[in-house]
Amino acid sequence: MNPFGYVRPAHEAAALDAGSEPDSQFIAGGTGLVDLLRLGVEKPARLVDLNALGWDKIEPTQEGGLYVGALVKNSDLAWHPEVQRRYPVLSEALLAGASPQLRNMASVGGNLLQRTRCGYFRDVGVTECNKRTPGSGCAALGGYVRMHAVLGGSEHCIAVHPSDMCVALVALDAVVHVRGPTGARIVPVAEFHVAPGAHPEVETVLARGDIVVGITLPPTPFARRSAYVKARDRASYAFALASAAAAMHLEGAVIREARVAFGGIATKPWRSKEAEYVMRGEPATRALFERAAEVALREARPRSGNEFKVALAQRVLVRALSRAGGIA
Ligand SMILES: Cc1cc2nc3c(=O)[nH]c(=O)nc-3n(C[C@H](O)[C@H](O)[C@H](O)COP(=O)(O)OP(=O)(O)OC[C@H]3O[C@@H](n4cnc5c(N)ncnc54)[C@H](O)[C@@H]3O)c2cc1C
Ligand code: SF4
Repeated sequence: MNPFGYVRPAHEAAALDAGSEPDSQFIAGGTGLVDLLRLGVEKPARLVDLNALGWDKIEPTQEGGLYVGALVKNSDLAWHPEVQRRYPVLSEALLAGASPQLRNMASVGGNLLQRTRCGYFRDVGVTECNKRTPGSGCAALGGYVRMHAVLGGSEHCIAVHPSDMCVALVALDAVVHVRGPTGARIVPVAEFHVAPGAHPEVETVLARGDIVVGITLPPTPFARRSAYVKARDRASYAFALASAAAAMHLEGAVIREARVAFGGIATKPWRSKEAEYVMRGEPATRALFERAAEVALREARPRSGNEFKVALAQRVLVRALSRAGGIA
């Protein structure tokens, strides 16, 4: 591991100052970052520990939603009674991630900003990785791609975004609160992560020194009827091969509005507005959900070794929609 300095600012202004220094990096729970320091993938000169800033509250908003501080632990968010009652998809997504020990350390901000698990990215012995070393190539293209993306990839990178939590947040229309050297702003989660295009090293809309201070879950008519389904190699402690978040607002048996998002198959948490459109105004039936799943994967571009993800994602979505729609 490279030597690094360490500071633990007591207030936000000091954290922003420390974070805007070149080669500084924020640390929250450390469950993602410490591994990458050990592997030599991340080499900050200084860690800026956010844990003294007190952003660990879950509070109602004036609009009737919930505000969640960036330092709230994944387990505290998952087991919060209001989250379980009003946003079950989020609770289920968090509990499907990692292990209880990791969830007790992992924070909301860290989960949003976790790096890909692409094996080539994490192995510094592999020289071709555009995400780690811009312009060096991509070892996954033409390599072993079982875990890689079938949606949102480019000729420069096909690494999947690994988070479960973010898939639920995209389906819930959550927004991220960011503060940085140039001020404060709010970014919808759906726009927070960016597809790789020609610059896989750029993963989010954050600029140097920006801190995630929290997220808001809006009050939505569809959130209460929602579900998360994850397919993986082991029952726990494994990243998604394919996962789906589904939510819907029903009037009788008719779908007034639906939300659909995928994990494990795309370069960013992937919302399918096309699938949502297909379901609007239709009765909630298995045949409809199968049609929506087909539409959602229409643009999929699998490679030799991950073709199975297309059918798997479709089945996972049908199951999530069936649970959300009460026909499972
Ligand atoms: C064995 C293992 C299995 C896992 N399985 C899953 C899984 O199945 N599903 C899943 O979703 N995740 C999984 N994870 C990932 C885990 O969820 C993340 O490591 C965790 O959420 C990161 O949170 P953290 O607080 O520890 O972040 P850290 O490790 O502290 O930081 C991660 C990144 O976020 C940045 N950061 C942290 N907080 C902020 C902030 N507030 N503002 C700006 N930047 C910030 C850091 O600089 C760093 O780049 C797994 C991890 C491990 C080790
Ligand atoms: S898929 Fe992306 S992260 Fe993986 S080796 Fe290629 S460029 Fe690197």
